Amino acid sequence: MIRTRFAPSPTGYLHIGGLRTALYAYLFAKKNNGKFILRIEDTDRERLVGGAVEKIISALKDAGLNYDEGPDVGGDYGPYIQSERKNLYAKYAEELVKKGGAYYCFCTKERLEQIHKDGAGKYDKHCLKLSKDEVLRRIKAGEPYVIRQNMPVCGETVYKDMVFGEIKVDFKELEDNVLIKSDGMPTYNFANVVDDYLMGIDYVIRGVEYLSSTPKYNHIYDSMGWARPNYMHLQPIMRDASQKLSKRHGAASYEDFIEKGFVSEAIINYIALLGWSPKDNTEKLSMQDLLNKFDISGISRSPSIFDEVKMRYINSLYVKEMDADLFHSYAAKFYPRYDYLNGYDLKYLSGLLQSRVEVFTDIANLTAFLPAFDGYDAGLFTNAKWKTDAALARTMLPDLISLCEGGIDGLHDKLEEYAVKTGYKKGQVLWIFRIAITGSANTPGGATEMAALLGSKRVLERLKYSLN
Ligand code: GLU
Repeated sequence: MIRTRFAPSPTGYLHIGGLRTALYAYLFAKKNNGKFILRIEDTDRERLVGGAVEKIISALKDAGLNYDEGPDVGGDYGPYIQSERKNLYAKYAEELVKKGGAYYCFCTKERLEQIHKDGAGKYDKHCLKLSKDEVLRRIKAGEPYVIRQNMPVCGETVYKDMVFGEIKVDFKELEDNVLIKSDGMPTYNFANVVDDYLMGIDYVIRGVEYLSSTPKYNHIYDSMGWARPNYMHLQPIMRDASQKLSKRHGAASYEDFIEKGFVSEAIINYIALLGWSPKDNTEKLSMQDLLNKFDISGISRSPSIFDEVKMRYINSLYVKEMDADLFHSYAAKFYPRYDYLNGYDLKYLSGLLQSRVEVFTDIANLTAFLPAFDGYDAGLFTNAKWKTDAALARTMLPDLISLCEGGIDGLHDKLEEYAVKTGYKKGQVLWIFRIAITGSANTPGGATEMAALLGSKRVLERLKYSLN
């Protein structure tokens, strides 16, 4: 059975690059009736951020990436948090030492710094020469030590990545990395291999930054006599040609996009396309479509550039097809941000907004005409198509005011009758009316819809204000 995993380090939030890795691992597993596993890689204690695990979990669930095994759902291969597996790595490291794939190293920080200063770059295998007895004696004496991987000094190592093809690396380019630190904790270099092996992961899907260190991990598998997994490395999501998409440059996490008013289906849809394309180039893809169409031959070998305009467009497709109640329930989560909306018929507003919202924070711009009604720009009455201007508005406004004195019921008919009676064009009347009550040429609806939204009291106030 195919088993894939997503193995984030809980360093803050779920970056959408990480989410995309998780998505591909999920799709690949599910397409093949396999299992998708969540493993939290928290061995680097200094980089931990409180609450980060919860954020990752809730983002994955919210996005529909339901894992079959993981910290909160359990499974046969747990625990799924590396720090809770702490005691299990030493045994494998010792076995690796016995098999010649690793060795104890007692070198002091000073010595390591000296090697670095001398320009040797990598560790000189000094402790590889220690006899077994000496190693034992020093361990017993309580000397601090690490366990290092013993890399061959010559020859080359090869593996086949499912995206990048054959990857060949000279052993001499690889270092004797630390596998177990002096505090007994494994490094990523060791823990990822042991865990992938113990958890039965046979397809490792992760960021391209691990492409060139994978030969080191393969060497551990080989030394232990374990079967290597298959690998799929993914290019990063870039902000532009040279910079990765990052929090520093604005939105980058799943939460950021939800905050901005994207819906999770659209986020998943868009990021699926950042680094993969279906054969038929369809753009709108539900999770089910992705499950049907995902195939590794569509994964790109080059980085993809994040395009928020495109993402907004994809989001708008989802927003438009929502039924009115669903749209309203989404919008209702955003309305409280705009306290000037208090007292408006929000259900009615939702009906006006749905065809105009691309992402839910667009509500701000689309309703910007509602709060302060000052700084009126009389120039807005000028409309070449309708041949209207401020002067015409001044002539028409007293009539419009009296028309609304008794309320705005049947407003549309009243305005139409007024046009017929006066000989103005209907468009002229509606334009002037709408500008007068909203102070904006961009409103989420026409004159009578805006009047219905505002209610007769405000309509009258605003018509009067516009006349002064
Ligand atoms: N914890 C690693 C990271 O967050 C995962 C790498 C992997 O998937 O093996 O980058």
